[in-house]
Order: sequence, then C-alpha cells, then structure tokens
Amino acid sequence: MFRLDGQVALVTGGAHGIGRGIASVLHEAGAMVVIGDIDREAGEQVARELGGQFVCLDVTDAANCQQAVAAVTERLGRLDILCSNTGIFPQASLAEMTGDDWDQVQSVNLKGMFQIVQAALVPMRQQRYGRVVITSSITGPITGFPGWSHYGASKAGQLGFMRSAALEVAKDGITINAVMPGNVLTEGLQAQGESYLAQMRAAVPTHQLGTPEDIGHAACFLASSEARYITGQQIVVDGGQILPESPDA
Ligand code: NAD
Repeated sequence: MFRLDGQVALVTGGAHGIGRGIASVLHEAGAMVVIGDIDREAGEQVARELGGQFVCLDVTDAANCQQAVAAVTERLGRLDILCSNTGIFPQASLAEMTGDDWDQVQSVNLKGMFQIVQAALVPMRQQRYGRVVITSSITGPITGFPGWSHYGASKAGQLGFMRSAALEVAKDGITINAVMPGNVLTEGLQAQGESYLAQMRAAVPTHQLGTPEDIGHAACFLASSEARYITGQQIVVDGGQILPESPDA
C-alpha cells in the first residue's frame, strides 16, 4: 500500500524539520526525492542521505520556482509529487507587528506556495497526473495563538487557495490536498522557546509532540495513487490536540 516506486517528488523546505520527515517517508515508499530549499548545505546533505537530489529554491522568487521545476524535469524526466511545505513562523504581537513582518510571512507561506504550485502544475498537466500536498497548520484554519495572526492568516489562506485550485486541475488528473500539523518537534518549533514547547506538550492528550515523520506518513498517503479520489481536503495530524473534551465526560 502507498508505494511511490518510480515517482519523482519535489519537497520544498526539505532540508529541515517536517519537510525532511516528508522526504524521508516518500523515499522509504520508493520515490526519487528532490529537496528544494534555500539552505544548500543542509539540503544537499539530506539529498545524499536519501539517495535523492537537491535544487536551490527560494519560493519567494517566481522565476526561481520555474527554474527549480525545470531542473527536476530535465534531470529526472517528470514531476509526479509536489510537497509544498516551506513555511516560516516568526511571532509578533498585533501592537508591534509591522507591514514588513506581515508581508514577509505572506511572501513565504502564501505567495511562495502559490508560485511553486503554479510552476509544478506545468509538467503535471502535460503528464495528466500529479499530486500536490500543502503543509498548512491547525493554527489559523482551526485554532489561534497570540503572536501568530499573520501566520494564521497565511495558513488559512493556503486552504482557500487549495480548494479553488483543486477544482481547476481535477480534469488533468491532479489532486491538491493539505496536511495540518499540530505541534511537531522541529528546529523551527524549538526556536519558539522552552515555555512554548511545555505549553504545547500539555495541550496534547498524550503530552507528546509530533515527529516530522508523523506528518510524512499522512503526506505519503495523499501523494499516493490510492488517494486518487480525494482532492481539496485536509488531514489534521495533531495527536488529538484540537478535539474538544465533552464537559460531562
Ligand atoms: P523549519 O523552520 O524547521 O524548516 C523550514 C524549512 O524551510 C527549512 O529547511 C528552511 O531552510 C526552508 N525555507 C525557509 N524559507 C524558505 C524559502 N523562502 N524558500 C525555500 N525554503 C525555505 O520548519 P518546520 O517546523 O519544519 O515547518 C515546516 C512547515 O510546517 C511550515 O509550513 C510550517 O508552517 C508547518 N507547520 C509546522 C508546525 C510545527 O509544529 N513545526 C506545525 C504546523 C505547521
């Protein structure tokens, strides 16, 4: 089940954290993985470990997104799977947030996602096959967190994009879905500080943070041919964090 043998997958933000976990699970499922990241050194290292390839990619640069996708198809002949995972999550209170803070988050998380998805759809349309998996978040679409109003807007926006885009490309054999992680222990999350991590552990029924591979397994399912009849949907992977407890339990 959920084998990806012979398929080519581009994972953005694959040099670290959740992207690295997704890349590792797709590799285990048989895919040839290409890591697309601004961090060349770490990206090349992950690519070597997975027997895959690396492309230098800044998702905020539309021309660079097109070049990275062209590099993948020139080297490997096709692009079956795009995991659009790149994201940043700096905190800023509403009182202190500047327009530049806002723009930076939207530029990477929202416009960057649009640019790499748009580029990847070109070969996918020609192949009449493609799987796009966006890494969104529970923060924004379902929950909120003080200091993340710009981030929450970007993550909710990703899902709005996904639904309309999924309808546009369905006739071309392409699906677009999203994974919505809860709190996953990555370098990005660790940067939020120990008190944030303790608060997040306490919020999960098992008191455990997720692993990048937990997200990778959900992404692998959505990237598989078995998920052909699922599009424009999202899977929450949060250890039960968002489940409301019944008051009379
Ligand atoms: P991370 O900071 O550990 O890794 C992010 C990766 O993206 C890095 O490899 C970085 O070099 C790369 N990157 C940053 N800017 C880039 C750009 N402009 N172009 C290309 N690559 C770029 O982050 P993470 O925790 O692994 O998060 C990955 C995704 O998961 C993000 O979209 C984030 O919003 C989402 N997410 C994370 C969590 C969590 O708990 N860690 C929870 C919900 C959603």
